[in-house]
Amino acid sequence: MDAIYKSVFLLSLLCFIHGEIHQNREKASEPHRIAIIGGGIGGAATAYFLQQLTDGSALIDVYESGRVGGRLATVPFAGEYYETGGSVIEASNAYMQQFVDELGLSHSTDCPASAGLYNGSEWVFKTSDWQMLTLAKLLWRYGWDAYTLQSITEDMLNKFSRIYSEQRKGNAYKDTEALLRAMDQSFPALTKVTTREYLTNMGLHPRIVDELVTAVTLCNYGQTPDIHAFVGAIALAGAGSNLWSVRGGNRQVPELLLTKARAALLHRHVSVVAAVADPHTKQSFYQVTSVEASNDTPGLYTEGSNALYKHHQLEDEEIRTQDYDVVIIATPLTADKSDIKFVNTTTKKRDFPGTFERITATFVEGRIRNEAFKLPASDSIDEILSVNPALVYNSIGLLHGVDEDESAEDGRCSKQSKAVYKLFSPQPLTKEQLKLIFSEINATKVVDWRAYPHYDIKSEEHQQKPAMFELEPGLYHLNAVEWVGSAMEMSAIAAKNVALLAIKHLTGDESAGAMAQLRDEL
Ligand SMILES: Cc1cc2nc3c(=O)[nH]c(=O)nc-3n(C[C@H](O)[C@H](O)[C@H](O)COP(=O)(O)OP(=O)(O)OC[C@H]3O[C@@H](n4cnc5c(N)ncnc54)[C@H](O)[C@@H]3O)c2cc1C
Repeated sequence: MDAIYKSVFLLSLLCFIHGEIHQNREKASEPHRIAIIGGGIGGAATAYFLQQLTDGSALIDVYESGRVGGRLATVPFAGEYYETGGSVIEASNAYMQQFVDELGLSHSTDCPASAGLYNGSEWVFKTSDWQMLTLAKLLWRYGWDAYTLQSITEDMLNKFSRIYSEQRKGNAYKDTEALLRAMDQSFPALTKVTTREYLTNMGLHPRIVDELVTAVTLCNYGQTPDIHAFVGAIALAGAGSNLWSVRGGNRQVPELLLTKARAALLHRHVSVVAAVADPHTKQSFYQVTSVEASNDTPGLYTEGSNALYKHHQLEDEEIRTQDYDVVIIATPLTADKSDIKFVNTTTKKRDFPGTFERITATFVEGRIRNEAFKLPASDSIDEILSVNPALVYNSIGLLHGVDEDESAEDGRCSKQSKAVYKLFSPQPLTKEQLKLIFSEINATKVVDWRAYPHYDIKSEEHQQKPAMFELEPGLYHLNAVEWVGSAMEMSAIAAKNVALLAIKHLTGDESAGAMAQLRDEL
């Protein structure tokens, strides 16, 4: 009897093992099913990198409840289109450059503009038409601090660029601290001090921090130099002279990346991400539940895509659930930005503390009221940067439309026919406030954003732990990166990072990603 039991047991074991092997083989030959939630630059870049890493074999669904591009958007105004969200890209931003090259897009560069730092009652600094004079004025007001500030920013940009070679090797990071450490050992500590503390410790005089640095952080992040020193450095890099945008609008980059990645774009709002354990294989997968997006701003639908979703969709069904091997969340998850619920995952809502800063972009076609800024009637200034957080605006800038040709044939900048300004402010501006700033107003338009994280480095959560890219194996959060810095290139770097994490998880091979890169280079 004993022998019979043993034989039966052995037989069942063999059957079980055979079944497992069979299922695993089937699994191995099946294409990976991946959901990306969010069709901004982050989600679109993730789709692009994933297709590169899987040689185009992955089935990728991108859920976008609003417009493709997210915080990259243009608005029609006064007969032109203008950037209203993410506008400028730093020259050393390698991924944005790579995308523009591969997608056949081109740069539009900013013309040198006159700019001034205003505190509400006087100009603390104004540029001149002559570069040499501007330089002399900078030295006069800030001494060598101006040069030191530039050197600090350049040094950080050089160290920052190391991430590209690390990612080429296939290295991926589970949290923001590890990502920063890969750039430079000293970088994680920068998120624990304010920009003000860091720069004064580096020997800079408080005057340059209160004026020049404040103008830059207010303009780029709507916050004072009390933001942490890493994001402060990103703000400073974004105020340099080597900046560009995409001719025709930055939002073309995510739109075209999705097409290139052959991702299926679903104009749906994701409400639930649930982890499910397969009772047979014991492997877990994810179910994404979504509803048709309700607003009137349909995204773009790519043709000829590797649509996984369309094979399963049922007509006239409002709520739908779809299975995936991996889910990548490419949108912020703070309570003010997201209502996605997690079921059976180790992730909880409280894992995403913090809030996003409100920034209002007001477009005005009109004429600046010179006397309000103590400017002679004959004078004009293209960019007014506030150094005083109590003012109703953070910045006022003369704009060029995304399609306008900014430089004349002789290489000199031409003046556009209409004067259109963009004001960034923490609150919507009233008509009365606008009338104090403009002597003539022909048209206005307002775009309200939850723009970037409120970098409250004194908060308990911020002090405790870095933000996680890997919420659990198979579930990733790209926008963790925004807590160290919010910018297009940061989203692109995070996109490559989560794509690498996902591919290592799906293949069970820690060196995955490096091999794909090696092939690229051969
Ligand atoms: C006013 C402003 C000015 C800026 N200026 C610059 C600049 O000059 N340079 C720079 O580099 N950066 C700038 N930035 C920052 C930059 O725009 C962002 O860091 C970047 O665009 C973020 O991209 P993302 O794809 O990570 O997120 P998002 O662009 O926010 O994309 C997330 C997408 O997910 C979608 N989504 C959210 N929830 C769901 C859901 N449940 N289901 C389906 N879809 C969902 C949203 O509709 C959105 O389209 C600026 C941002 C703002 C707002």
